[in-house]
Amino acid sequence: MWWLTIPAAFVGGAFLWSFAEYAMHNWRGHKGKGKNPFSREHLAHHADSDYFTPTYKKVRTASVITLLALPPLVWAAGIGAGVAIVAGFLASYIGYEVLHRRIHTHPPTGPYGRWARKHHFYHHFSRPNLNHGVTSPIWDAVFRTLEQPDVVRVPARKAMSWLIDPETGDVADAYAADYVLVRRGDKRREREARKTRKAAQSASASASA
Ligand SMILES: [Zn+2]
Ligand SMILES: [Zn+2]
Repeated sequence: MWWLTIPAAFVGGAFLWSFAEYAMHNWRGHKGKGKNPFSREHLAHHADSDYFTPTYKKVRTASVITLLALPPLVWAAGIGAGVAIVAGFLASYIGYEVLHRRIHTHPPTGPYGRWARKHHFYHHFSRPNLNHGVTSPIWDAVFRTLEQPDVVRVPARKAMSWLIDPETGDVADAYAADYVLVRRGDKRREREARKTRKAAQSASASASA
């Protein structure tokens, strides 16, 4: 039955990565508050979304995890299934790395890419305590950290280059339904406008009373 167990073990390994992606990002990256090396790297990526952890550090960590995980998995599941679990885990980890980088550097080309970008940039720019999954919303749904915004607000100085129309300097038409640019001072102006509106409302309420 190897033709059944090996692919199943591979898929199981890939699924295991999706949980690791969520767990590391949320509990080690964000809840770590810069007190561990992974958290410091991740917060640096939040401060400057063009910053990505150097590849050699990622390869080093992935190699250590692979070497530690392989023997007990082979012992428990046999050589074929054990190697397949690790291979599935690594394949889906590499898929995540490629996707995360492309989310930042390339425009979406289909519904999944469009979803993944909105999901991730909402996490970056609005609610860093939500949407920790990058490749899927599964674990955000399980741990109730999932929010699917209609429109993502992007600080103009941190905007992804693919989002901007170089002619207008604003969000390109193709993405205008999903993103708005927020410029420095916009928030203050919004707050002031709200205050003025409220004052006008209460003035007219007291005038009609
Ligand atoms: Zn990111
Ligand atoms: Zn994050």
